[in-house]
Amino acid sequence: MSGERVLVVEDEEAFIEALEIGLAREGFELEFARDGKEALDAFAAGSAANRPHDLILLDVMLPRVSGVDVCREIRTTSKVPIIMVTAKSSELDTVVGLEVGADDYVTKPYRLRELVARMRAVMRRTDDGSAATETAPASESGPLRVGEIALDAARHEVTVRGERVSLPLKEFDVLNLLMENAGRVMTRDTLIDRVWGHDYVGDTKTLDVHIKRLRAKVEVNPSKPERIVTIRGLGYKMVLPESGERSKEN
Ligand code: CA
Repeated sequence: MSGERVLVVEDEEAFIEALEIGLAREGFELEFARDGKEALDAFAAGSAANRPHDLILLDVMLPRVSGVDVCREIRTTSKVPIIMVTAKSSELDTVVGLEVGADDYVTKPYRLRELVARMRAVMRRTDDGSAATETAPASESGPLRVGEIALDAARHEVTVRGERVSLPLKEFDVLNLLMENAGRVMTRDTLIDRVWGHDYVGDTKTLDVHIKRLRAKVEVNPSKPERIVTIRGLGYKMVLPESGERSKEN
């Protein structure tokens, strides 16, 4: 996979240099913007020239126009995948809460490998149209697979490390949502809304109970989850295998 056009919006030279080298090596075609205004201009220019960007990596703290406002502005016209970069996890909380329409979030300092895995994940999601049609059943695009977990929504089947596991409906729905959004933090509210409905008034601990049962079925060691992880203060996330394609270990 190579040649995707990435608009990197970043004002810190150290990050710019590291990304310039690291992302170019991964085959991405890079364009840099050093403040929010430049980012909006670059994005508009790319679209106008019929060479739209395939992804935007967007720092939150920027001169002139903030990353939050850049994201909002771009979302009025485009569904381009956007990954927002926050300086610390407390800021992450705020930015996620604003629901500006980013596809994923990373916190500095990040590892390049993780960043690249997430970039590819959001581009894949957009490629198969799932980002554009949130409510469409996943079954239409075949089974979902994250590492050793496979989920076939049409057949209502889940296999973990090659073994069939049976899941009650709500557990299945939670797993399906996490897998569809693998690599991305799903807030507690989003999960509860989408699985139990926005008018759900029950105990929010119900979600934790479902997560616990799911972990018992999918994790190698349920007390040290590596696939369904807790993002403290926010929700849960399905962790992608480190390198998009995991080597065969059979
Ligand atoms: Ca910054």
